[in-house]
Amino acid sequence: MSSLLNQLHSLRAQAQQDIAQADSLEGLETLRVRYLGRKDGQLTKILQALPSLSPEEKKVLGREANEAKISLETALNEKKGAIEEKTLNAVLSAAAGQDLTLPESPLSVGRRHPLAQVMDDIVGCFLRLGFNLAEGPEVETDFNNFTALNHPPDHPARDSHDTFYVKNFRDGEGLPLLLRTHTSPVQIRHMQTHKPPLSIVAPGRVFRHEAVDATHSFVFHQVEGLAVDVDISVADLKGVLGLFARHVFGSNVEIRFRPAYFPFVEPGIEVDISCTLCEGKGCRVCKQTGWVEMLGAGMVNPNVFRAVGYDPDKVTGYAFGIGVERVAMFKYGVDDMRLFFENDVRFLRQVSR
Ligand SMILES: [Zn+2]
Repeated sequence: MSSLLNQLHSLRAQAQQDIAQADSLEGLETLRVRYLGRKDGQLTKILQALPSLSPEEKKVLGREANEAKISLETALNEKKGAIEEKTLNAVLSAAAGQDLTLPESPLSVGRRHPLAQVMDDIVGCFLRLGFNLAEGPEVETDFNNFTALNHPPDHPARDSHDTFYVKNFRDGEGLPLLLRTHTSPVQIRHMQTHKPPLSIVAPGRVFRHEAVDATHSFVFHQVEGLAVDVDISVADLKGVLGLFARHVFGSNVEIRFRPAYFPFVEPGIEVDISCTLCEGKGCRVCKQTGWVEMLGAGMVNPNVFRAVGYDPDKVTGYAFGIGVERVAMFKYGVDDMRLFFENDVRFLRQVSR
């Protein structure tokens, strides 16, 4: 019995000393478990001897053990309060001289890139008109990018595309694969796998081996459109592009068609929009003409229908290709395309919503 009491006294003294030396909340918790833990705590172990003691001895040891427990719990709580206060004081003194009541500085929130916004805007306009979204790969076959679009292998228009070829990779005909020079091959892929009537819009990146300057880049974005049915006419094309122009540039915008040559359409059309900067009076951007060249379009060439297995005597269609950078430059009044790629956040904040 006296040895149990001795153990209890030395446990209490040791615990008091340990608690006084603890310097962290984690350390205190370790001590609490070591001395007062319900299962393996040292006090619990001493109390396990109680059943073998006489009633008188139980009373003495029980009372002493209870006193020890209360005094250790008190010491733990006091030490905990002291450590917390010390931590808080350290934080406050680190912030000395600062006004903690000042409002915090505002968080800056990210936005969609202006080119992505313009592309979404264009695509969204056509989706609401009933077009479906179509996509294709950036690495294409010569057939899809050129031959099927009425650029046979010796066609001079191929030269104007300044194509990047993918070294050592060839298609089934042994022709080199290439980075698509326009989004038009998506038309071919879609027509090969779908029957008319169809109307699609295909946004994406295209690549040309061009030196970078204010109006050229080796990578840029297009949105391609295609509609095929039994009785599609130029009037349908004009109606759809007029809606597009007014959606993107404002309700007062007018469009005009000029004849142009693109191998995959016949007739080919260059589409101008009235200059919104000078309202048609003439300015530097529209070169005093009141009109700005905006996109290429036309009625699908019968050779393109033949290449995908459609009968050009039964179906007609129109196609158009919109340069996203060109639209963005005009919409935001920016005269250097490089600004969209350099990603200076001051510029991006200025033009994006
Ligand atoms: Zn103008």
